[in-house]
Amino acid sequence: MSTFLGLIEEIPGISVDRFDGENLNSSAYFLSHCHTDHMQGLNCVFFYNLKQKNKYFYCSKISKVILETMGYVIENVIEIDIDVKTEIKYESNSSDILYVTCISAGHCPGSVMFLFEKMDELILYTGDFRINPKDYRKLKSLHDRDSSHSSPKKLAKVYLDTTFLDRDFTSFPTRPESLRAMCKVVTEWLNLSPKNVVILECSALYGSEFLYMELSKDLNVPIHIKDIVYETYHRIPDLARCITLNPMSTRVHACMSKFDRSGLKCCQNISKRNILTIVPSVLKWKGKDTSKVGEYDSVRSNTYNVCYSTHASYHELETFIKYFKPDEIHPCVCPEDMKNQIFYLLDKIKS
Ligand SMILES: [Zn+2]
Ligand SMILES: [Zn+2]
Repeated sequence: MSTFLGLIEEIPGISVDRFDGENLNSSAYFLSHCHTDHMQGLNCVFFYNLKQKNKYFYCSKISKVILETMGYVIENVIEIDIDVKTEIKYESNSSDILYVTCISAGHCPGSVMFLFEKMDELILYTGDFRINPKDYRKLKSLHDRDSSHSSPKKLAKVYLDTTFLDRDFTSFPTRPESLRAMCKVVTEWLNLSPKNVVILECSALYGSEFLYMELSKDLNVPIHIKDIVYETYHRIPDLARCITLNPMSTRVHACMSKFDRSGLKCCQNISKRNILTIVPSVLKWKGKDTSKVGEYDSVRSNTYNVCYSTHASYHELETFIKYFKPDEIHPCVCPEDMKNQIFYLLDKIKS
């Protein structure tokens, strides 16, 4: 959960991922992705005032779609494309021009990092992110290129997603590895009996979509999803072809609330013994071997836990820091009781 308060020390006048309190004095706003801990203060009044006070709000195209389907009247919201450097309209005491570039963050649909550039100084706000270290070189906005080679850009400061900057989460399987394990278990289960169904028990409202898409492609069936996300999903083409609102057209369901463990009565009368529940999570692996891909739950029957993370692991964060070597790091997930530990680890990695 983000503990970041919204203000970027080096760039007075803008706010990122917080829209309440002091941030109301800012004149340009940025939203990295649509998870509630990054949306505090966003409401109808906020968007009304944005228009009234002629301020601007920047986000990715998909985040804008999600905001629209949440029912907000969103004027003065500017969508920015990936890897396109954009000049920002905002009020500041200095005449320096501020630019921003969006970079894919690999966390959930529409999630981006923001690369701010002011007076040749670069500040990166990662938002929540998970990018395979093998793909760093593909992040072209974070590299200087000349004809012969490319090198990571010099970053003055990184505002970093430190969710798993914790030795209890040293390394995770890659998402394709997690998916392979999951597809295998699901296929075996469905092949056992035509009555068998699968429930995907995902925690956040948005964030499990990559998993839906891959599972749907692999099994060649649509995923039955919650009504509330359908409005958004059907406007994102890659997702639209993997989902359905018809419970009878598939045996794979992501239509349940995580807190309702009473089976599938919402859409079908299916006996409990025909249901396999898949729980993608990483917290269950805390302190255990997080490189393990999945295992059957020892307490809940017919439940398979799969290690699946949309945040970088400790090792991935370490690799990220050593690759970009930022001058300074601000941890954006830093609860009071973890503070000492997080700063200790950051110092250790940087040294
Ligand atoms: Zn998030
Ligand atoms: Zn269903």
